[in-house]
Amino acid sequence: FFLSFIFFENKIVPFILYTSGILVNTILTKKIFMEYKTALYGSLIISIISLCSYLSALLSVLILGINLFFNYLVRLKDLFICFLKVLFKYGKPIQLIQYVTARCNLRCEHCFYKETLDKPDPGELSPEILINVAKKSGPLLWYSLAGGEPFIRKDFSDIVLGVKKEAKPAVISLPSNGWYTEKTYLSCLKIMQNYYNGLFVVFISIDGPEEIHDRIRGKNSFQKLRETFKILKKLSKLYEKLHVNIVITVQDYNCKLFPGTIFDLYKEFSPTSMSINLFRYQELNGPKIK
Ligand code: SF4
Repeated sequence: FFLSFIFFENKIVPFILYTSGILVNTILTKKIFMEYKTALYGSLIISIISLCSYLSALLSVLILGINLFFNYLVRLKDLFICFLKVLFKYGKPIQLIQYVTARCNLRCEHCFYKETLDKPDPGELSPEILINVAKKSGPLLWYSLAGGEPFIRKDFSDIVLGVKKEAKPAVISLPSNGWYTEKTYLSCLKIMQNYYNGLFVVFISIDGPEEIHDRIRGKNSFQKLRETFKILKKLSKLYEKLHVNIVITVQDYNCKLFPGTIFDLYKEFSPTSMSINLFRYQELNGPKIK
């Protein structure tokens, strides 16, 4: 009925087809209903139900299309505001980095946050404060969380989803030492189940082959991150907005291993991308890396 309505200019054709369909159906179902009258009523009811289903399907597609169109417009508007921020520099950022915790299970030698890690106050602001600050700075292009180990926080996924909703960054990223496989997986799963546009990027810190990495970050830390990386990679196959990347901090212990290490890590983990950080001292006149 619908197809003939589209393809035939003469609008009587669909109705002829519709009526013929009902008649054919009546003849075919006569055996089941025993008499023509009941078969005719049955065919009429079925055809009306079918018509209603087609109409509601069409309506759903239409509503979905309108919804997508408006979402697209909102995203364009946010990008345009970010563009104006860059152009006129009126004091609002396009990128925001928030330190969400000073807690961490590792004690890497090179950690620039080292003194803070062992302080009794983990320096954690409530999700409401973090989200509110991001909201006031929004819309953002890029929002980063840092620590400490961000996945230590139980409310980590609430912070990410709150910031996503209020500040609408195109990219949310964070570094992780990859120690907490289950916590990391569950947090990412919850985030991805509610993440509809933009990218969520987890950078797993890897500082070289297993032996060197463990020397820098602590015993067993490579094996732990390997498990976390693999399970997140599987999750990223289900949720393409999740990117699992590697970040390497170049320092005295590993600076001689490049570029070979990059190829080896790429071969083992197949990250979406790899970033390289150069180790820096907290004071400008710190000793140079050998
Ligand atoms: S994992 Fe990161 S935050 Fe934790 S000690 Fe190492 S460098 Fe510092």
